[in-house]
Amino acid sequence: MAKNYFVSVTDALSIIFRTIKSGHVKEILTSDATGYVLAKAIINPYPSPPFDQSAMDGYAFRFNDFKSGRKIVITGESAAGENFIGKIASGQSVRIFTGAAVPPGADTIVMQEKVELNNSAIIIRDDKLLKGANIRKAGSQLKKGIIAADKGVLFKPGAVGYIAGLGIKIVSVYSKPVVSVIVTGDELISPDQELGPGQIFESNSAALCSLLQNDGINNIKCFRVKDSLKSTGNIFRKALLQSDMILFTGGVSVGDYDFVIKTMESEKVKTGFYKVRQKPGKPLYFGIKEKKYVFGLPGNPASVLSCYYEYVRPAINAFQNNPHPAPVALSLPLASPVQKKVGLANYLKAYTDFKTVTPLSDQESYKMKSFISANCFIFLDEKTENKNINDLVEVHLF
Ligand code: AMP
Ligand code: MG
Repeated sequence: MAKNYFVSVTDALSIIFRTIKSGHVKEILTSDATGYVLAKAIINPYPSPPFDQSAMDGYAFRFNDFKSGRKIVITGESAAGENFIGKIASGQSVRIFTGAAVPPGADTIVMQEKVELNNSAIIIRDDKLLKGANIRKAGSQLKKGIIAADKGVLFKPGAVGYIAGLGIKIVSVYSKPVVSVIVTGDELISPDQELGPGQIFESNSAALCSLLQNDGINNIKCFRVKDSLKSTGNIFRKALLQSDMILFTGGVSVGDYDFVIKTMESEKVKTGFYKVRQKPGKPLYFGIKEKKYVFGLPGNPASVLSCYYEYVRPAINAFQNNPHPAPVALSLPLASPVQKKVGLANYLKAYTDFKTVTPLSDQESYKMKSFISANCFIFLDEKTENKNINDLVEVHLF
């Protein structure tokens, strides 16, 4: 166990990023692509927009007619999806609506608020009107055959809308991991049971499922094991067959009833690291077997959350080839001082309004209530000591 034992936060993360290889590539509907990373560049199949479009409700005409003061009569209508049939000649215009095709022959559109009607003629009251105004040219967003989105792009809702708007129904993406959560702890009961002596409600599986779902992981399997080597081994082998990533909670320390590390040894899981110089989450374990990744998360609920945000989420991001796997980090001034000794890196639950950052009370790892208002961690590295109000600190958003 001596190798990669009690590593720094930086080493732990680099071991994770070195170890994790991306999952397989699959094709999915564009409309389902939120949170996936594009595995193959998308080539634009049509000009976008596909035709010259009106950007306004108004009139389409020839700019030279307006310049020369010629009478311009209305000869028809072009509505969205109902094109004007024919061509505009000099002295002619068509009533046009937003999104409608600009008729051949017209080169400018004036908005209807800048037009007076005189029988069937239009009088344009727009000194600032320029030739070509209010027309969205075909291909002005993107020409046909150009790369619309490159490999490695993370699909956010706007990207889904953009790619769908180009007429692309199916995209190639890196798969997301199937994740198994294995809960250890004989003292734990589910919230629908009556509390007996020495028992507490099991909550880590709820938190982990919520975290995973929030990260777009929907294929989650949940297991409970008894605090025994046999039970832990049996369930681990079962989970290994069904998933890409396994998250143990609890049982990862060195107590007589902690069986995760012993199971990792007996099941020949290759250790990436065990124990990290950090608080909370010191006993964190990471290993690999058969291209499947195993985290031994601590049992204390607040440690589970910090280890998820700082290690498991980056690992899931790496599995999906997300180009920015690590937590989003900012540098912000402290709104109140913090006390710290040299030794372990600290993750303090905190709230930021993006101008300053405020450490919250109740930092102990068995307490969860600060997560009601927390939206970030203050990260203080191993060497850092006490910090004063207004000192700049590293903030990890979650
Ligand atoms: P362990 O690492 O198994 O010693 O657990 C550390 C602490 O976390 C103990 O107080 C456990 O009761 C608690 N704990 C472990 N697993 C869970 C869980 N799934 N839900 C709530 N608390 C837990
Ligand atoms: Mg336990």
